[in-house]
Amino acid sequence: MKIYIQTDIEGVAGFCFFEHFDPKMENVQHRQRMYRLLTDEVNAAVKAAFDAGADEVLVNDSHSSGYNIIFEDLDPRCRIIHGRNCSGPHWLPLLDASFDALVLVGMHAMGETPNAILPHSKWRVNGGAIHLSEGSMAAAIAGDYSVPTVFVSGDDKITAEIKSKIPKIETAEVKQALSVYQACSVIPARACEMIYAGVKNGIARGSEIKPYHIPGPVKLNLLDGPGHMDLKAVLPEDVEAPTIDQAFMDFEHRMTWTCFDTSKLNGFVFP
Ligand SMILES: [Zn+2]
Repeated sequence: MKIYIQTDIEGVAGFCFFEHFDPKMENVQHRQRMYRLLTDEVNAAVKAAFDAGADEVLVNDSHSSGYNIIFEDLDPRCRIIHGRNCSGPHWLPLLDASFDALVLVGMHAMGETPNAILPHSKWRVNGGAIHLSEGSMAAAIAGDYSVPTVFVSGDDKITAEIKSKIPKIETAEVKQALSVYQACSVIPARACEMIYAGVKNGIARGSEIKPYHIPGPVKLNLLDGPGHMDLKAVLPEDVEAPTIDQAFMDFEHRMTWTCFDTSKLNGFVFP
């Protein structure tokens, strides 16, 4: 059995603000602490996957730089994808139909969600018939490969959104969001217990949980991106493609900050 774990950091218990986006608030020690919390939550998911019978667990370190998880401390049975996000061929590299389940750890709500922790990225599908967060986008892409999404952790807003789309999914609500920068979290050790139990149950119940599939062709656009995103540079019109997976990757490849030549080191100077 093969399990894919997609990760982000905004939904980790204890994480409330992007201190690293503001140079005046740069706090290396705080950041290391957040990476430790993320690593522990991911490790809880990895162990649960193996305990549920997985032979192979692949972790995608997907937030920002792609270098957040302290991977030397992860369960040595898993493998991890890291490095510059979106420089590879796919946002969810190596995900294909050979996987039995997708697990989402540390997710945040979509852009414009009131009183959610750090909400950003709101994908509009088919003119607004469906709106997707990064978490439900990952689930929809997995759905194109008939892979069910069996677990999500994060604040109460993202778990509610994903549950509205995948009613039988297991969730771990590791914090109650009070505003975009304030939450009431469970203590990290408790968050890890919740994630362990949820991932184990989700994988065990995998056959009951239908893949989240959006039938194609689809029209896709982005209404609200991360703070650094130049939305004016993104397409004024929807991208159309036969599947959500193809539409998403088409869109990604048109975004200015991912449009660099990935076949060779390009403009990168070693310090
Ligand atoms: Zn993130």
